[in-house]
Amino acid sequence: MVYYTLYDYVKTEDTALRQTPTIPPADIERQLTLCDQVRALLDRAPGGKTAFVDTYGCQQNEADSERLRGYLARMGYRFQDEPEGADLVLVNTCAVREHAEQRVYGNVGALSHTKRRHRGQVICVCGCMARQDHVAARLRQSFPYVDLVFGPQLLWRFPELLLRRLTTGKRVFETDDVPGAVAEGIPVVRQDRTKAWVSVMYGCNNFCTYCVVPYVRGRERSRRPEDILAEIRDLARAGYKDITLLGQNVNSYGRDLGLDLDFAWLLEQAAAIEGDFLLRFMTSHPKDASDRLFDVMAACGKVAPCLHLPFQSGSTRVLKAMNRGYTRESYLERVAALRARIPDVVLTSDVIVGFPGETQDEFEETLSLIEQVRYDALFTFLFSPRRGTPAETLPDPMPPEQKKANFQRLLARQNEISGEKHRAYIGKVLPCLVDGVGADGRLTARTAGNRLIHLTGEAGLVGTWQRARIEDASTWALFGRVE
Ligand code: SF4
Repeated sequence: MVYYTLYDYVKTEDTALRQTPTIPPADIERQLTLCDQVRALLDRAPGGKTAFVDTYGCQQNEADSERLRGYLARMGYRFQDEPEGADLVLVNTCAVREHAEQRVYGNVGALSHTKRRHRGQVICVCGCMARQDHVAARLRQSFPYVDLVFGPQLLWRFPELLLRRLTTGKRVFETDDVPGAVAEGIPVVRQDRTKAWVSVMYGCNNFCTYCVVPYVRGRERSRRPEDILAEIRDLARAGYKDITLLGQNVNSYGRDLGLDLDFAWLLEQAAAIEGDFLLRFMTSHPKDASDRLFDVMAACGKVAPCLHLPFQSGSTRVLKAMNRGYTRESYLERVAALRARIPDVVLTSDVIVGFPGETQDEFEETLSLIEQVRYDALFTFLFSPRRGTPAETLPDPMPPEQKKANFQRLLARQNEISGEKHRAYIGKVLPCLVDGVGADGRLTARTAGNRLIHLTGEAGLVGTWQRARIEDASTWALFGRVE
């Protein structure tokens, strides 16, 4: 692969090669003008207007909510931490797991009471669930007090949709499957002063058989590198210390740009930006995690020495049924290639227990893979069928009790491994970024490898890099004091 410098990229860019449409800047400008119209409407009402934004699911949703907050701030809304009494409630939903979906239904159900106590409350539901036809139908019929529903591809048109609701008094449902695009220039209100999310791409082309993301978030769309790098530069100048590049599969970055650019190139460019910050990224797909990416991780001091590399199953047969595009052996080879370059890399992963048709022997293969890799932490999920995915209709003979028992076994073993790995830090002094104050009054901090430290120290240290002497450890965290 021939790599372009950013200068070459700008010089040679041929927009005809780009497959992903970009929303014209004039259309975003129009949305900002509509924000001002909403503000003018609200200004006529007595008192200031408040909004509550409730976000479910992954970091991509957190990043989307920061843009929705940006629009709301431009409309003149102030933010509050609960739905009670808010003039606008925005629920940004997640459809990836059944548990999150049920919580959304429960919490949207409870909004009928807050709305009864505050008649003018406007309730909006957006995000991945809102894109699903059966969810939209249920919201329409069973939640008549929900005012506005729209899918993730229409986030950029939120001001227009809200204004339509406010001026017509009619419920607005915009949940059709529209092609995704990239929208730049939407204002952002970030939730944190030290950590920031930067989306580098949206959507997914992988169609894992258990996953709804390609159906609800559409095909892969990459942001242009100059827009991403400008955002990172602004964040570094503003003093952000921990910047995470986001995408459903960041390793596919750039394929729709029609040029010889990839995620490793982008990461290298981002790491060359001046500033006192660390770069993280997620999520990586094992089939696309290249040697070149690992080389950049090893060579660039600004790239955190950690990788979240979901494996999902230790059985090649199950991986094939999941349409994951790699085998147990090729996954382990990727881990070996990474560790050859960064021996103490912090490795985390996702695994699904009880995929339809998984046999007991195949589950044992998953257990043996975690023994072999020894992840620092693992996000463990019991399979739950997602409507409209191929896995929903696969034969599933294993009894639920057996799946639950397997899940508990895997969890227990991983907890032991995580505890052992954490205890190995005791006595060491680790650089860390202090990012907050916990409920117990201690500081919270993150190591470069993203390990959580509960830290004894002054509250004034929040937002600074410190050295922490580790004195104790548990499965989930390290405990120490500022050196
Ligand atoms: Fe879903 Fe697979 Fe895409 Fe991840 S890579 S978002 S699991 S389809």
